Amino acid sequence: MRILVSNDDGYLAPGLAALAQVMSAFGAVTVVAPEQNHSGASNSLTLSRPLTVQRAQSGFFYVNGTPTDCVHIALTGLLDAMPDIVVSGINSGQNMGDDTIYSGTVAAAMEGYLFGVPSFAFSLVERGPEHVHDAAHWAAQIVRRYLEAPLPAPFLLNVNLPNLPRDQVKGAQVTRLGKRHHSEPVVRAQNPRGETIYWVGAAGTARDAGPGTDFHATAEGWVSVTPLQIDLTHTGLLPTVRQWLQGP
Ligand code: MN
Repeated sequence: MRILVSNDDGYLAPGLAALAQVMSAFGAVTVVAPEQNHSGASNSLTLSRPLTVQRAQSGFFYVNGTPTDCVHIALTGLLDAMPDIVVSGINSGQNMGDDTIYSGTVAAAMEGYLFGVPSFAFSLVERGPEHVHDAAHWAAQIVRRYLEAPLPAPFLLNVNLPNLPRDQVKGAQVTRLGKRHHSEPVVRAQNPRGETIYWVGAAGTARDAGPGTDFHATAEGWVSVTPLQIDLTHTGLLPTVRQWLQGP
């Protein structure tokens, strides 16, 4: 089996190494990851300049571009053959609810999904590498389950892993995305030249976080597995807009 591994935290991130390590038990792993941290890059492609691919001592390929660039380049030219799965992560920090819109971790997996490859995005719900190897153990459990009992392809599974020792994780639950409150206000400051600068504020706290959501499952000590889709069409609003366009 061929496995493509990517992330958005960059090719030096501990979560990437942990994920690549556990995936190597399943087959031939190729890592193609961004040179720098691109958290929050969403599905952006770099179209304004050419990209370079270099190889680190670890054997990982790194690209001076976004997570989506990495998987796109891998699937459309760098790899000799299409991978059987794409895995992204393990991200330092959760990607739940509205986070999935901005996440580069989810985007890297989504690029695989767009090309018809079964894809998984893995995120550790708290920042920091404290339990990253436990999280990698559970990531491997999810992939192992897929290999034992394949799901119809393509699919995109967004997996959030509790920051707990592996024995304290209760198992895996299917979930839907919850929702957050609006983001915290932008943080305004002055740079040394006296110019006003802005830092994007923190994500909002969970608002829709009841049973059945990703927020709820991980808070209870479960691995959260949410199948995602891409079609943004608001099907329920089609009749209303059709009527609105036709006028009175
Ligand atoms: Mn990240």
